[in-house]
Amino acid sequence: MVSTQPILSATGLTMEFRGFVAVKDVTLSVNEGTIHALIGPNGAGKTTVFNLLTKFLTPTRGQIHFRGNDITRLKPAEVARLGLVRSFQISAVFPHLTVLDNVRVALQRPKGLATQFWLPSGSLSGLDERAMELIDAVNLSSYAHLTAAELSYGRKRALEIATTLALDPAMLLLDEPMAGMGHEDIGRIADLIRRVAKNRTILMVEHNLNVVADLCDRVTVLARGEILSDGTYATVSADPRVREAYMGT
Ligand code: ADP
Repeated sequence: MVSTQPILSATGLTMEFRGFVAVKDVTLSVNEGTIHALIGPNGAGKTTVFNLLTKFLTPTRGQIHFRGNDITRLKPAEVARLGLVRSFQISAVFPHLTVLDNVRVALQRPKGLATQFWLPSGSLSGLDERAMELIDAVNLSSYAHLTAAELSYGRKRALEIATTLALDPAMLLLDEPMAGMGHEDIGRIADLIRRVAKNRTILMVEHNLNVVADLCDRVTVLARGEILSDGTYATVSADPRVREAYMGT
């Protein structure tokens, strides 16, 4: 469901590293149920904004609100508990465990991080059922008994997404989910993101503009730490300032 209600909003975010302003006065909002992309040339500040939103960095100035809570000063685990989770953040994939065991482990993470789904305590069959649901959701059912090390790169990332989904986050932040992938894996992960987004909000940093055009409801363009443009892909890609920023690098 796409709404015009912001689930996450940042106001006047500024991040200085010993006097160097990496992110300057960034105000952005992500609407509930949308797939939102953060794009921009190298050095634009995308990673810094991501780290600010997930609380790996605390802004020099500005505020961040998630679902009505001021999260500006919270820690990553605290925002994860509120339902804002970065993929690959908490979800280490263990190469020598099977796909099923990886998801089982993810489902049994510290209770504080897994408050949003119901699991009958001590019931292994309940756990396995939930694990298989998640494995199915990322199309890995046929690979459930392979070790993570045996999976292709794209399927490994799908497994990482499954372990993140074990937290049942309301909002997922994906850092370059297509990085290093071939055409087939890109298609598979794009389908997966679309499916996952049906009842969640997604914010992703992505370099592949075809993927952004195809997948994202809204796009925010950063350059030199500032927001250059914000809107649909069609709008921002027609913006001369955006063209200039991309061509200037
Ligand atoms: P992007 O992800 O868009 O490539 P980054 O957020 O990684 O951009 O970086 C934005 C700018 O901030 C770059 O000039 C980078 O060198 C600088 N920067 C990022 N992190 C640090 C840091 N910890 N200390 C100093 N400068 C940093």
